[in-house]
Amino acid sequence: MAELGLTPEDRDRVAGVLAGQRRALAKAITLVESTRADHQARAALVLDALLPHTGKSLRIGLTGVPGAGKSTFIEAFGLHLIDQGLKVAVLAVDPSSSRSGGSILGDKTRMERLCQNEFAFIRPSPSAGTLGGVTEKTREALLVCEAAGYDVVIVETVGVGQSETVVAGMTDVFVLLQLPNSGDDLQAIKKGIMELADVVIYNKVDLDATAAERAALQMRAALSLLHPANPNWQPPVLQASALHGQGIDKVWQTLLKYREAMTESGAFMEKRRRQTIDWMWQLIDTGLRQRFREHPAVKASLPDTLRAVTEGAATSTAAAQRLLNLMNRYF
Ligand code: GDP
Repeated sequence: MAELGLTPEDRDRVAGVLAGQRRALAKAITLVESTRADHQARAALVLDALLPHTGKSLRIGLTGVPGAGKSTFIEAFGLHLIDQGLKVAVLAVDPSSSRSGGSILGDKTRMERLCQNEFAFIRPSPSAGTLGGVTEKTREALLVCEAAGYDVVIVETVGVGQSETVVAGMTDVFVLLQLPNSGDDLQAIKKGIMELADVVIYNKVDLDATAAERAALQMRAALSLLHPANPNWQPPVLQASALHGQGIDKVWQTLLKYREAMTESGAFMEKRRRQTIDWMWQLIDTGLRQRFREHPAVKASLPDTLRAVTEGAATSTAAAQRLLNLMNRYF
């Protein structure tokens, strides 16, 4: 009955997604990403129809500063998974939109081999957005990929702002890709990213094995001082060379171990349940804020109220209260 209300076109789209057709998948994500009200209404129905078919993939969040080797890593890792008979979807940051100056040399070759593989689906983030390429639609795109039968979904984010928290809030396991000798560690600590990491990988170990070893040791010591996000899991620190395919299988084995440990303790599903509730509240917060701004009475009195607060004629508290009360009016 979930398909009630779907347009014939969307019904085909849902069937195409469930059959694993990449074209239908891409179109469904485009619909989900659309900001048009009628598209959003259709997208909600499409998602409802797909929802019973979601939940089976391993959702991996991946972060690291630009240049850490994320796309090189995703390509090597993705191809490795495909070798194991798995299908991989990647919701990736598009460097041409997330960096100023437009398209940079080499963009087109980002994950080139993975892009061409029939068992991979790569979707660049639609725009720079405010969260390093991650948008509020990323979570829905992830669900659509899952319904299309992808065994692993990777959500990539650039190490800026709050994007890590958002991605960690929609994935099962959060991986931090680090460079030895870069001051990265300090950055990660400062931004609270280390607290989110379930697995840390030092990449480019081929360049300086000693430095990577030293950095890994320090990171292990630092992580052991943190209160672990989960009592069943102490985040391991691995080393890899994405460029030369070193350490890639170890990463995969570690992620499988993570899933096993978390599933056995019940923490895996508990985390997902918590994420869906958190997500609902986030949507309610966003929706309320939007309704507030669009409410005619609020709109009409906002300029005067803002002026009154700036000029010191009204306190912020009183002004906020008055504006919120206006929402109870129906005109
Ligand atoms: P991203 O910005 O995090 O996606 O980083 P890229 O994957 O684009 O990598 C940035 C640069 O580092 C590229 O020139 C890669 O070839 C290089 N690179 C990535 N991984 C490795 C590695 O393991 N070893 C070496 N030597 N270079 C790497």
